[in-house]
Amino acid sequence: MRVYNTLGRKIEEFTPINDKEVKIYCCGPTVYDFPHIGNLRAFIFYDIIRRTLLYNGFRVKQIMNITDVDDKTIKNSKLRGMELSEYTKIYTDAFFEDLKKLNISEFEGYPRATQSIGAMETMITGLLSKGYAYKSNDGIYYSVSKFKDYGKLSGMSLKETKSRIQNDEYDKDSAADFALWKTWTPDDGDVYWENDLPKGRPGWSIECSAMVFKNLGESIDIHAGGIDLIFPHHENEIAQSEAFTGKRFVKYWLHSEHLLVNGKKMSKSLHNFYTLRDLEKLGFDVIAFRLLVLDSHYRSKINFTLDILKKYEKTLDDIDITLKSYEKLPKGNKKGHEEVISEILNEFKKSINNDFDTHEAIKNFFMLIELLNEDIKSGSTDNESSEAAMLAVQKMDSILGVIDRYSVPDEVIKLAEERSKLRDSNDWAGADLIRNKIKEKGFKVIDLFGSNYTIIKNRQHGN
Ligand code: AMP
Ligand code: ZN
Repeated sequence: MRVYNTLGRKIEEFTPINDKEVKIYCCGPTVYDFPHIGNLRAFIFYDIIRRTLLYNGFRVKQIMNITDVDDKTIKNSKLRGMELSEYTKIYTDAFFEDLKKLNISEFEGYPRATQSIGAMETMITGLLSKGYAYKSNDGIYYSVSKFKDYGKLSGMSLKETKSRIQNDEYDKDSAADFALWKTWTPDDGDVYWENDLPKGRPGWSIECSAMVFKNLGESIDIHAGGIDLIFPHHENEIAQSEAFTGKRFVKYWLHSEHLLVNGKKMSKSLHNFYTLRDLEKLGFDVIAFRLLVLDSHYRSKINFTLDILKKYEKTLDDIDITLKSYEKLPKGNKKGHEEVISEILNEFKKSINNDFDTHEAIKNFFMLIELLNEDIKSGSTDNESSEAAMLAVQKMDSILGVIDRYSVPDEVIKLAEERSKLRDSNDWAGADLIRNKIKEKGFKVIDLFGSNYTIIKNRQHGN
């Protein structure tokens, strides 16, 4: 496997620190609102990292954090008159629902910032005693000039980062000397901790480092996030972690590109975002969003539109129809497709192993679908080709995760059987009546060859 390491900005061969288990940390959501589909693009990428490693026979321990305390969560929970934990639970639950809907695999853990305060305090105390951190009125700060490698991930010198910080809109958390701990203010209400440190709460970047140490150890294989996290978040994580342990923190830093709307990053602050719930309300199959994301390399920007999403939804229906038709194809003369199929599968593996190139991998997948369509046109396949094809589809889908989208309710299956019988007895009017009934239930019957048919969802999109 080859991966693009942001640290060093080049493609490298992937060799884990420890053969037995690959350790991966992924920056997760801040649960102050529903995730938007830009956030979800990053989470789909985390899933692809996992599935690709598993495909290659690695064992994986992967965690994604949940930031359940920060300025926004505190502010919004107060506005709603809710306890912080009560408020963040709503969006934590929504986040898990979204992961499930998008067929994102379950990871080994989802640590919460509020449940990892002890580990943060240990680190901050250590950084203070090593002279990397200092106390000020409003908190405890990390002194970036003490860490000689500051800038090694983002490729910026300290001077440059300072001038960027003056020019860009970074909040105090991300200012050159960044806050490890923020002293309590009345705005924080009852959100504070006071054990080893003055009454207050953690800064943002310390959360991730502490959760890495607590759950995975001092040195890990992969740390992933969206590219906006390279600076200052990940640069800060390196500084505080490596200063604390004296060891290399992360071997491979992986960052996924943004999802754009009209050329601008999708974000809450620009009000140009969709949530998965929005797409569902508009009648979309959210797995079409998964396919849309995977059809671009993770390091390419994606310009999102509903029209493009519609196109992918149609593609999924076409794949469904091909697979259903192929399953029902009579087995006739030997086609001998096994070799071509195994070649396509090899190419597929090469693609995903080439820095998670799902764009190329999907081309390979479509090549296979094309081959099946040819057999369908010719009216037959054979046992060996069919077995090889089904196995290949299964393997490819163990990465793509786009085939099993929904199940058809029993009552709809029964209606379709009834309709088929009526058609067999040439009762076309009766059959049409049932077709409409099926439509009312949100499905449609697609007639294949002979008297074969399949049932797919009947999509109707709002605006
Ligand atoms: P947040 O909840 O803002 O901390 O972000 C969670 C994850 O989503 C991070 O890895 C971000 O880098 C990523 N992210 C935020 N906005 C976008 C976007 N428009 N496109 C892709 N990823 C994004
Ligand atoms: Zn993080």
